[in-house]
Amino acid sequence: MKITLPPKAESILNTLQEAGYEAYIVGGCVRDSLLGRKPGDWDITTSALPQTVQKLFRRTVATGIQHGTVTVMLGRDGFEVTTYRSDGTYTDGRHPDSVSFVSSLREDLSRRDFTVNAMAYSPRNGLIDLFGGTEDLKAGIIRAVGNPVERFTEDALRMLRAVRFSAQLGFGIDPETFAAIRKLAPRLTMVSKERIRDEISKLLLSDHPDHFEILADAGITSVIMPRFDEMLATPQHSPFHIYDVGHHTLEVLKATPPTLLQRLTALLHDAGKTEARRTDERGIDHFKGHPALSAVYAADFLREYRYDNKTVEQVTHLVEVHDIRVSPTLPNVRRLIGRVGEDLFPDFLTFIQADNQGKGPLSHQEFAPRFQGTVEAYHEILKNRDPLSLKDLAVGGSDLIAAGIRPGPEMGELLKAMLEDVLEDPSHNTKDYLLGHFV
Ligand code: ATP
Ligand code: MG
Repeated sequence: MKITLPPKAESILNTLQEAGYEAYIVGGCVRDSLLGRKPGDWDITTSALPQTVQKLFRRTVATGIQHGTVTVMLGRDGFEVTTYRSDGTYTDGRHPDSVSFVSSLREDLSRRDFTVNAMAYSPRNGLIDLFGGTEDLKAGIIRAVGNPVERFTEDALRMLRAVRFSAQLGFGIDPETFAAIRKLAPRLTMVSKERIRDEISKLLLSDHPDHFEILADAGITSVIMPRFDEMLATPQHSPFHIYDVGHHTLEVLKATPPTLLQRLTALLHDAGKTEARRTDERGIDHFKGHPALSAVYAADFLREYRYDNKTVEQVTHLVEVHDIRVSPTLPNVRRLIGRVGEDLFPDFLTFIQADNQGKGPLSHQEFAPRFQGTVEAYHEILKNRDPLSLKDLAVGGSDLIAAGIRPGPEMGELLKAMLEDVLEDPSHNTKDYLLGHFV
């Protein structure tokens, strides 16, 4: 088994080895190389102590020196070089109490989370696979290194990582590892929201975002997003739907392109349906007002997991507008762009298409012509550079003051009325017309 290393990573291994130390590439880059995937970063593990690594290379950054990690800079590229380590005991299920540096590759590999992540390689020594990682890669299995109950008790985040890797690699989870997750999932309450967020994001952005369902099967969502379990238990007896809310959400996740905005919107867009569901006398379910309820839930969820403000704002807004339907006349589509916002409109179009894919044939029939009409109108509106918001209006606050209107709510109302008129007929967007007709 031969792995082609980037020349810079290879030169770091050579420098360490020529100085008498052991050095290997390790973890994700070995896994990805064996799978024929392009590794994100090339991590190196070595028997040399951090101070030694700092002496052997001209440019280093002590990025995680307390964990034994030094980043070696070669040109613009940084490589994390970490001294072999074995973690001390864990008392709070989060952080090792002490990190001791041990001169043993075996110990370093045995503290890693999954067999497929616990392999090392160097051109000199070939592949070091002590836990059956190669076999698990071939079989497509995520399996804890050692006793899964112990490993998840040490660090509860690993349970979420198991599902994240299953989603990234399209793998299954080994039954014993899975059983340990089911048992220990409640320990995820001890993990920081930020670490959970990063795993949720990676899972959602993966090739198999529908593996989110595994989180529910494993009892993880009941701890980190109980609403998702409720979504799976919310049927949609409606001629437009063929799935319950949860499975509809999974279908939409699969149909969205892999951006965080699209995938988070997909996850959250119908979360409010659990509260909004009303069954009429014919047995048909209605979900009136669900976008607003979903938006409230989305904002809470995203803030709980410390997503940045821009993400919270954009996702919440897309969730809020995702179900607006208009017959696609030019004025209607101008008003729609006004509601959604010009910046988010392309994302809105992408999302409603994905949303539709998660519904039934009756929905598809109704959607197709309306969507095509909306896209055509949108292009026409862009081509004509039609005014779409207050900032595009030919009249501004200062014009109104000059015309004798005092600043205040009344002025705001007036500007809004002008915009309404201009959205209906863009040719009205001149000072003469607007001041003549509205003031
Ligand atoms: P990617 O970078 O694509 O997310 P990766 O496998 O490189 O995947 P990282 O989170 O960067 O994952 O971690 C690098 C390596 O460190 C992993 O492959 C694994 O061997 C080890 N590792 C990371 N986090 C843990 C953890 N919580 N418990 C045990 N080992 C871990
Ligand atoms: Mg990595």
